[in-house]
Amino acid sequence: MTLRPVTRFAPSPTGHLHLGHAHSALFAAAQGGTFLLRIEDIDAGRCRPEFEDSIAEDLAWLGLDWPKPVRRQSEHMDDYAAALARLEGLGLLYPCFCTRREIRDEVAGAGRAPHGPEGALYGGACRRLSDAQCAERKTEGRPWASRLDVGRAVALTGPLVFHDRGRGRIEADPRMFGDVVLARKDAPTSYHLAVTVDDALQGVTLVTRGEDLLAATHIHRLLQALLGLDVPEYHHHGLLRDAQGRRLAKRDRAATLRSLREAGRTPEEVRAMAGVTAEAGPRSRS
Ligand code: GLU
Repeated sequence: MTLRPVTRFAPSPTGHLHLGHAHSALFAAAQGGTFLLRIEDIDAGRCRPEFEDSIAEDLAWLGLDWPKPVRRQSEHMDDYAAALARLEGLGLLYPCFCTRREIRDEVAGAGRAPHGPEGALYGGACRRLSDAQCAERKTEGRPWASRLDVGRAVALTGPLVFHDRGRGRIEADPRMFGDVVLARKDAPTSYHLAVTVDDALQGVTLVTRGEDLLAATHIHRLLQALLGLDVPEYHHHGLLRDAQGRRLAKRDRAATLRSLREAGRTPEEVRAMAGVTAEAGPRSRS
């Protein structure tokens, strides 16, 4: 067990932080050790510098501190390109030219298409393209994403496990996502690749995040094995819910840390609302 873990909170600057984020950030910091902040801003169209500023301001107001400068994913595309090149070298990637519509049509045509945590699995049309067909599409200037051939990847690594502090030993089942995208058409990486590479490069030893991301860990574990990365421990925590039992989301303006602060709440009150107090540590379901 890691006595002094390196943990992180890794928000995307696409809005103001709300109580659910506060729960995640405080949960990570309450593990002791070193707490890192990482800005996940690969989605250039949705991320805004003002939200990044507001994230830092809100976290500092809550009483959190972290080493500076923070890692900003948009500044590290070379790291993701290197990881991608390694997977390419293993023969595990293929270009996917499909539009969203083509993917939907393929799924519809397949009748009872298998579904995963992110909806229907990609049907694999581009996996079946020949080298010549791929080259032709690239020459035509058609944009493409890079997908991982998960079947091949799993055959290469064999069975994998990871450890979750709340759930114990978990056998990884990376096939549940189908052939995931590792480099998007509009960005030379994807969430799964960037997060896995960053956690390893930053020496994160304990990944804490909401249980809505538990499924993603199955694919991250596969990427760690393929890329020869250290495997952190995990703790997927329960999600904060509103009085109706719904997950807090960015649409709940009243629950933003900013609006709570403006309404006169103190950091201690907000920490208690987020379910993590300085004295008691995390009070999460898992
Ligand atoms: N950036 C992700 C989000 O905002 C979280 C990443 C992670 O914890 O793995 O949901």
